[in-house]
Amino acid sequence: MDELQARRVIIEIGKLLYERGYVVSSDGNLSVRLDENRILATPTQVSKGRMSEDGLAIADLDGKPLNDKKASSELAMHLLIYRMRPDVNAVCHAHPPHGTAFSVAGLAIDAPILSEVILTLGCVPLTDYGTPSTSELTDSMKPFVEHHNALLMANHGAVAYGADLWQAFDRLETLEHTAKIAILSRALGGANNLPNDAIEKLINIREKAGYLNASARCQSCGYLHEAKISCGIGDNSANRTNAAGAKISFTREELIELLAQAANIK
Ligand SMILES: [Zn+2]
Repeated sequence: MDELQARRVIIEIGKLLYERGYVVSSDGNLSVRLDENRILATPTQVSKGRMSEDGLAIADLDGKPLNDKKASSELAMHLLIYRMRPDVNAVCHAHPPHGTAFSVAGLAIDAPILSEVILTLGCVPLTDYGTPSTSELTDSMKPFVEHHNALLMANHGAVAYGADLWQAFDRLETLEHTAKIAILSRALGGANNLPNDAIEKLINIREKAGYLNASARCQSCGYLHEAKISCGIGDNSANRTNAAGAKISFTREELIELLAQAANIK
């Protein structure tokens, strides 16, 4: 993407994040993929509402600085997503209060309550807690990045990504709006889930319209599996949910990794 244009859109969306209360103080971070090996990112310790176009950092895909500005300490989260998702050109991380409340309560945003959300975003899984700016955080995100466009990070916040920064921001906004509606509907006595046949129709529409492709059928939410909708990858699909008593399955590689870890614990 053109660097000047990328700088402008980061400043514009940084202001929106701040004004909408998705971040306070110097929380959150934004980035844009400029070309194959250069990422333009928000600097560390600066409010997203008060950034300047010439204050942004540039780093390579290994996080090595390419200018004299220091990128956010959470850049590794962005780099993981760029490496795993060639289709993604922008990442938006913030602490929107309703979405973050889900992450603090240990809940994913994965109930089939809103048709538009199934069409455009799909489910938002909850990844295990990891200390920010360490590999704990990126390791816990890794199993989910491929099949989702937004994630909740336990006791931390949310990240969304897309083809450009507006799409990443829109996805973050949808996540926050959905969390808010879910909380309000619980206050009114509880949310009604959409029935399985309605979910199936929405999945077909979203694929025909190109909102999400069939790989999103591997999302780790309960409703796709209850509706028996799968991408056909079968055993390779990450199929996790944090609903009580729900089944958990792992890919072959993940299972081997877990067993290896268990064998190392003395
Ligand atoms: Zn954060």
